Amino acid sequence: MSQISLNAPGLFDLSGRIALVTGAGSGIGQRIAIGLAQCGADVALVDRRTDSGLAETAGFIAQAGRRSLQLSADVTSAAAMAEAVARTQADLGPLRLAVNAAGIANANPCEDMAEDQYQTLMDINMKGVWLSCQAEARAMLAHGKGGSIVNIASMSGVIVNRGLNQVHYNASKAGVIHMSKSMAMEWVDRGIRVNSISPGYTATPMNTRPEMVHQTKDFESQTPMQRMADVNEMVGPAVFLLSDAASYCTGVDLLVDGGFCCW
Ligand code: NAP
Repeated sequence: MSQISLNAPGLFDLSGRIALVTGAGSGIGQRIAIGLAQCGADVALVDRRTDSGLAETAGFIAQAGRRSLQLSADVTSAAAMAEAVARTQADLGPLRLAVNAAGIANANPCEDMAEDQYQTLMDINMKGVWLSCQAEARAMLAHGKGGSIVNIASMSGVIVNRGLNQVHYNASKAGVIHMSKSMAMEWVDRGIRVNSISPGYTATPMNTRPEMVHQTKDFESQTPMQRMADVNEMVGPAVFLLSDAASYCTGVDLLVDGGFCCW
């Protein structure tokens, strides 16, 4: 046996690390941002609206005894993301961790979908993740301390959701999974790990949009665990992939789907 040099619980400790989370004002991004703080990180909170839940997220982070920074930025803007990363590093320190959770969802039959509906979603869900990773990795490459990035994809990037007409959403999430693997390989020899998480149906504001509310029962019955995920259940996978516990993981897509993709 090789020498035992690490204590297992300590592998998940993020103390002293600086993180940035997009989509931190709501849902999965909000809960993960709080979870990173509860594991010791200081967290820059990015969302597109100043009236979003950023203040609420910051309040929970303060309760955890960590620092946060509220930043209004649209992930579709390279300049805005560069500015967000610059302010993070100026106020909190060298960026080491990032979670890119900002995203939207909507539905329309493929044959009826307008070009701008397709394009707007692709710009946020796919180009936005690319621009976020680009800004984050530029900082990580420059300071040379390494980094770990987690992109929030979806099981919709792996399967097609029965009854949901969302060809653009499904394609965007398949794109996030493969983009994450591609970036992981570009930076594999420069200290940056890139992984993705693919949640199954998760109870967040995204799932209260009108065309989905009546389908909640279907989502539950289609899922082997017979329920949607609680947003808290996304924290552990994110902490794992970001932390030293996953030091040999890069280019992984971690399905967190209650077994959905097994059937
Ligand atoms: P959510 O509650 O709507 O949170 C998403 C947040 O991202 C919102 O605050 C949203 O602001 C923000 N955002 C949207 N576009 C943005 C932009 N261009 N720039 C900056 N911020 C932006 O949704 P969620 O369910 O937590 O989803 C988070 C991620 O998980 C998404 O990528 C989603 O696709 C993915 N996901 C969700 C589920 C699920 O079942 N909920 C399942 C699989 C994957 P607005 O409120 O203004 O739009």
